[in-house]
Amino acid sequence: MSIATWFKGVRLPRGAAFGPPTPLPPPQRIYLPLRQHRGAVCQAKVEPGQQVGMGQVLGSSDEFDSAAVLSPVSGTVEAIRNCADPAGQPVPTIVIANDGQDIWASPEGEVRPPLSDPAEVAKARPTRLLRRIREAGLVRAASQGLPLHVDLSPPMAPRSYLFMTGIPVVRPTDTLVIRALDHDPPVCPNQAALAGLNLTELDLGVTALKRISGAARVILALPAGAVSGELTALARLREWEIRTQSQTHFPYCLDNLLVLGITGREVPTPYGEPRDVGVVVEPLVTALEVGRVLISAKPNLERVFAVAGDVAKPQAFVARLGTPIAEAIKAAGGAVGEAGKIIVGGPMMGFAHFDAQTPITKETEGVFVQAAEHVRRYDDHPCIHCGRCVACCPVNLVPAELSKLCEFQRFEEAAEADLFHCIECGVCAYVCPARRPMVHYFRHGKSEVLARRMEQ
Ligand code: SF4
Ligand code: SF4
Repeated sequence: MSIATWFKGVRLPRGAAFGPPTPLPPPQRIYLPLRQHRGAVCQAKVEPGQQVGMGQVLGSSDEFDSAAVLSPVSGTVEAIRNCADPAGQPVPTIVIANDGQDIWASPEGEVRPPLSDPAEVAKARPTRLLRRIREAGLVRAASQGLPLHVDLSPPMAPRSYLFMTGIPVVRPTDTLVIRALDHDPPVCPNQAALAGLNLTELDLGVTALKRISGAARVILALPAGAVSGELTALARLREWEIRTQSQTHFPYCLDNLLVLGITGREVPTPYGEPRDVGVVVEPLVTALEVGRVLISAKPNLERVFAVAGDVAKPQAFVARLGTPIAEAIKAAGGAVGEAGKIIVGGPMMGFAHFDAQTPITKETEGVFVQAAEHVRRYDDHPCIHCGRCVACCPVNLVPAELSKLCEFQRFEEAAEADLFHCIECGVCAYVCPARRPMVHYFRHGKSEVLARRMEQ
């Protein structure tokens, strides 16, 4: 059965088909930002010169919205200094010289006995499973992902914006969606994970996520044409539903729009989440990580991500956390053509970077390389009122008007015109013939409004 989409949005060119992720050898030097999630920054628990083992806690925080940073290699802490994280923000970062020995900090890295029987997981206490997930330092595999134990925990207090929506304040979760659709194709880590699917890990991971979320219904959201016989058989056995969607119709695989397409429930905007309408959405990569953590009883020290765009061999990799993106681009055959841009994330919603030593973190979905000839040059040309952006905006805004308000620093008026409903999908900038830097205007406008409100 297909997932509903609408006439808005855009059709993106079909990128390279990804095979199973290729393992990348651990690099000589690892860079680990002390914040690899949306939430509190961890405090460093090691000092320069200290020897560390695999799985050792390098940074942690008492705040609930934080995920511990664990060492993915054994070696020596070289330095703790500020480096750019995947969103381009300076974050304290631990630099480790890898000794190549892969010695675990605790015997065999085990922190708890393995949990590998789906029947046992299906009956396990949710708090027990959540503790495992927190100890493993798992983060939802998405740009600015929440720590997974936070993402899966029901809200502690009703969120104020829900009072105005007429939605019951805490709606019980009844549906779990496992999203094998990628947010920003052609960067497709979930598609690669699907190509090399480990059904045992998927079975266990989805069973654990179902148990924790309390959902009665599980839906696999898959790219059209990527449904294998084994997966269909497992889905039938476990009574999971399968829904498909084209990977090229952007941005309908973003979580809120996906929930609308699958369940018909509209997530309240601008600050709503699928949980507010009784749905939990987790990426396929995350479900597999949960399964792997439970089976191995070891923490998560790797990330599946894709390298796409102007590289010789676009492909997916599985690499130790903290591996510089330069190593991944080299392994993908290197950049093709004159150097243009390196974007962490995808071409529509990612962040351009100036430093190829930026590491792969728990949030990284991929890297998109653009040769100079493909870089879209923005200009502050005036809007020609062609209306294309209005026709394409998937959340029914009037981007032309918003961009003009932000351009001329009328930020409060932009906020009143629903600036904060913009999901920064980049569709309006993609279609704009005047090449206006729409998303830049919106991000700047939002940050100005928030800064002014903080001052008041
Ligand atoms: S970036 Fe914002 S305004 Fe532009 S199309 Fe996407 S949601 Fe609409
Ligand atoms: S697409 Fe660009 S030029 Fe056309 S109305 Fe929108 S902002 Fe103006």
